[in-house]
Amino acid sequence: MKRTSQFSIDKRLLIIISIIVLIAISLSFVAFKGEKIRTITSRDLNTLIIKDLIRKSVIKSDYLIVSTSKHKYRLPLSAIDLKKYASLYPVEYAPKYNIVATVLILLVIVILGSILYLLFKRLSSPTNKEYEIEKKSIIQETNDKDILRDEIESIVSDISFKDVAGMVETKEELSEIIDFLKNPDKYIKLDIRLPKGVLLAGPPGVGKTYIAKAVAGEAGVPFFYQSGANIVEIYVGMGAKRVHELFQEAKKRAPSIIFIDEIDAIGRARGAMGNEEREATLNQLLTEMDGFDSDSAVLVIGATNRIEMLDSALLRPGRFDRRVHIPLPDREERYDIIRHYIRHKRCNENVDIAKLSIMTVGFSSAALETFVNEAAMHAMKDGRKEIFMHDFVSVIEKVISGKRKILTLSDEERQIQASYQSGKALVATWLDISYEKIGLSNTIFSDEERRILSKSDYFNKIMVYLAGTVTTENIYGERYSIASEDIAKAKELAKKMVFDYSMGESYFATDKDVYEILEKAKEEVSTMLVKLESVRKDMEVYLMANENIKQEEARDLLREIF
Ligand code: ADP
Repeated sequence: MKRTSQFSIDKRLLIIISIIVLIAISLSFVAFKGEKIRTITSRDLNTLIIKDLIRKSVIKSDYLIVSTSKHKYRLPLSAIDLKKYASLYPVEYAPKYNIVATVLILLVIVILGSILYLLFKRLSSPTNKEYEIEKKSIIQETNDKDILRDEIESIVSDISFKDVAGMVETKEELSEIIDFLKNPDKYIKLDIRLPKGVLLAGPPGVGKTYIAKAVAGEAGVPFFYQSGANIVEIYVGMGAKRVHELFQEAKKRAPSIIFIDEIDAIGRARGAMGNEEREATLNQLLTEMDGFDSDSAVLVIGATNRIEMLDSALLRPGRFDRRVHIPLPDREERYDIIRHYIRHKRCNENVDIAKLSIMTVGFSSAALETFVNEAAMHAMKDGRKEIFMHDFVSVIEKVISGKRKILTLSDEERQIQASYQSGKALVATWLDISYEKIGLSNTIFSDEERRILSKSDYFNKIMVYLAGTVTTENIYGERYSIASEDIAKAKELAKKMVFDYSMGESYFATDKDVYEILEKAKEEVSTMLVKLESVRKDMEVYLMANENIKQEEARDLLREIF
């Protein structure tokens, strides 16, 4: 990264300067080192003359300096008869300046001056070439999100939608925004306001940063990257200021995009673990987002893998009111991504992308990129230029055996996941809770349009969230960690019901009411699962074969038995 290399250049310069200064000091020390010269009287001089000890006589300023073989003495010229003395000993005149010292000083000044000049120039204006290198490296090293950058700078993204494989729906959702950034005037004239903020939510490595850069690339607008964690951890005490400056810069360059990665680091719900610094930064972010019109054409894109942690203030209208969920890629998307990454590699015809996409359930896009790369390396180590199917297979084996850290599912885990999700699909379909798809890698519930929800609506939702874990308990006699998110949501909903809407047993909320709702929901799910076990099983088989099940497909399976 340029900042790091800039840092090391500065460090090197500092070391060079220190060495030069040290050398200069020691040299001047030698040059100026006055030997001890004792001042004597004319009587002492006479003694030296009588003993004939004088070897050299030099006149320097107003003194006569005489040297014996061992010592130097001086006495004021006014104290002697110089003419008479000169008739006895040859007298020299010392040069007025110490030439060595003068040259040395000049040299040091020139060298230090040039170094300071260069340093200043480098810091104040990077050359075009350096700027280009910086741009490139930031664009290419997209994984490196922890760049410590002092100045707020934008980059010009050279990523476009064609570089982003799969993600068809996400691209569609974002295309309107791209058009707005390209022609803000068109929208402003018609008084159409677009969201100020888009929140990309999804697990790590699914391409949140990548797609945000692609939006900037497509729209041809400057891209300001900031990591939420950096703002909080590195700019300690200056987070709010940093956020303010970021918006200032982005507004100057509008239309532009501000991308805040790991926005949960700033936007975590306030309160509980009071952290004043983060709260100040979050408040600043809210103020900035409220402070500019949608006309200003600055789009804020936030990315998070913990949307549930975000402070609700961030999600209110006029802030991050557009939310795009980016799940792990499903089988078809994995197909596209693998094909995308092998397009410039030489693959044997026995490489079956469809099979590879089945084998890679649970891989993120970033993991798939690594996967293809590792297979190519495997072939290379074998001395081949062409990648064979077995190269991919051996990488997968390493992954499964834990030698390679790519998130994936073993066959057994796939089975558990299929059972878990089939329970969820069954209950959701039976209770008519709408969802786009329920799958091994991700589940997408449809956005809730209705504003007024009843006690039964909430209760049914809780049943869906509990369905997976009740299913695995019935089948395997076990509960699994995959349930964590769903359980958290079930609890959250039950608490909301009781504490916010008075939907508990008693009118006045108690923790017991929450517990009772959850228990009752669990009982009802158990009964339903027993009654509809055969359909659940069909759904599990379907999921094992197809990875995802859409609501319509699940309904068809349900209809078959009635
Ligand atoms: P996230 O921000 O979600 O953690 P990134 O955007 O940093 O993930 O993705 C990491 C890398 O994975 C990207 O730099 C890119 O090389 C690759 N990648 C992610 N998604 C895609 C995709 N849809 N198509 C092609 N490459 C992708």
